[in-house]
Amino acid sequence: PTSSPQTNGLRLPPDVSLETFETAIKELQNILGEANVEVNDKPLKDGWYLDHPNTHDTFHVIPQSSLVASAIIYPSTVPEVQSIVCWANKYLLPLYPISLGRNLGYGGAAPRVPGGVVVDLGRRMHSIFNIDAENASCVVEPGVTYFRLYEEIQARKLPLWIDTADLGGGSLLGNALDRGVGYTPYGDHFANHCGMEVVLPDGSLLRTGMGAMPGPEGKDNPTWQSFQHAYGPAVDGIFSQSNLGIVTKMGFHLMPALNENEHQSYVFTFPRDGDFEQIVDIIRPLAQKRILGNIPQIRHVIQELAVTGRGKETFHEGKRPMTDDEIHEAAKKTPLGDCSWVFYGCQYGSPESIKQQLEIVKDAFFKVEGSKFFLPENVPPGHYLHDRARVCSGVPVLRELDWVNWVPNGAHMGFSPIAPTLGPSARLIHDLIRAAHIKYGFDLFPTLCVAGREMHYITNIVFDRSDVAMKERAVAMMREMIATCAKHGFGEYRTHLLFMDQVARTYSWGDQALMRFNETIKDALDPNGILSPGRNGIWPKRWRGKGWEL
Ligand code: ADP
Repeated sequence: PTSSPQTNGLRLPPDVSLETFETAIKELQNILGEANVEVNDKPLKDGWYLDHPNTHDTFHVIPQSSLVASAIIYPSTVPEVQSIVCWANKYLLPLYPISLGRNLGYGGAAPRVPGGVVVDLGRRMHSIFNIDAENASCVVEPGVTYFRLYEEIQARKLPLWIDTADLGGGSLLGNALDRGVGYTPYGDHFANHCGMEVVLPDGSLLRTGMGAMPGPEGKDNPTWQSFQHAYGPAVDGIFSQSNLGIVTKMGFHLMPALNENEHQSYVFTFPRDGDFEQIVDIIRPLAQKRILGNIPQIRHVIQELAVTGRGKETFHEGKRPMTDDEIHEAAKKTPLGDCSWVFYGCQYGSPESIKQQLEIVKDAFFKVEGSKFFLPENVPPGHYLHDRARVCSGVPVLRELDWVNWVPNGAHMGFSPIAPTLGPSARLIHDLIRAAHIKYGFDLFPTLCVAGREMHYITNIVFDRSDVAMKERAVAMMREMIATCAKHGFGEYRTHLLFMDQVARTYSWGDQALMRFNETIKDALDPNGILSPGRNGIWPKRWRGKGWEL
């Protein structure tokens, strides 16, 4: 690849001279104001979650300066976003739009191509439009976080819940576009979006769904946030996990708020590692019949240690991964006691209905010998179950950050394959991933988000950002896990920037038929290849086959 060397701390976009870059920056500064077009020539700072950088991946698993922006742009209006796109077409600059860039574990705010220009939409575009208590919906701009929407709804005393991701500082819009999940009955974020407004790579503006039909007297269509599918091909999907448009507005369905006694979070623990298959087979029919109200999680008991935020050294001396015996020994001292698997669930409905649901759920899980049941009142105030109860009732929290303290300078990278909700598949995928963690010397932190037919097996590889060898091992392990899982048909639902090409190639049915289709659309909509080249493994014609694929 013809990536330019760093000039005075600046990484230029590929194939763009310093002179052209400076001319282009000045031109855009004249349109947006000087302060809203920043050149990234200062030392990189990793910051932390709420003060995260938009210049690079704060959780860098390759050298910090590898995935780095040349400039960051802060538009404040949709016409400004359109001007930015036209400007990028003129100078052939690769633009990487982010909402907030808190996509941690998957690349954060970083561009895929070094020297890419990051369009930070969230900084100045964070309005909430039309929170509609009757339709139970809203429209948001990219910078609206779960916290911000939650606070707005509270301040206006509206009878609505939000559905937050694990961490409340993310963008509703950004997370839904990357197909993130939450834990109320509205937890599938993309499925609960309704209508988008998108700036296309040629600078034109599109509204999807019912929004494509103008409302009376020039207003927005009155059913834009009521009916997702509208008329004709459903195009919304091509703007998620892709590089075909910059989404400037997105509608969401919100859940009508429930009272305190209309939701009940709880935990089951299971003593043996070998209970895993049975747990998964118990969940399947409960989820298919919708007796389980949300997407529950099965977590390995090691997470009970990690989520205390106290660091591995509290439980174990030395760097090698903890053995099962050591984990059990440490788990004995935690509020849930010694066990192997922990199930976090929540039931919704009237108090009588919750009672009946819990009887069914208990009957099912108590078939596992030695299983135990806990309500929030059965665990100390600082226990993670209380945070889970908040998330499952639409209250954003930051608790999931705590386990990054497992190692010094902690960072993480997500590995998230999809497997069938079947006992033998659960065992197989767990064994494959466990073997890789043992081989490469990492503790394994599995969290499974289990639906009726598939499970997201999410494991976060926690590494020390200052330990180069450890980072190299993490990358090698990731590549091996992607390849091994794909052999069994387990594909990732989302991945870190570095692995997007590899994962895209695993979806190879019909001699890469899907990739050819994506490339055809990409070339038609973005002939100059200016929008997020390489995102999700889709490279525009101008970039394809030039050595950028990893
Ligand atoms: P969050 O901060 O909620 O985790 P990000 O802003 O990091 O979300 O978004 C995740 C990814 O989704 C980005 O890296 C980008 O590829 C894509 N994305 C986010 N916002 C937009 C947008 N408004 N238009 C197009 N793509 C976007």
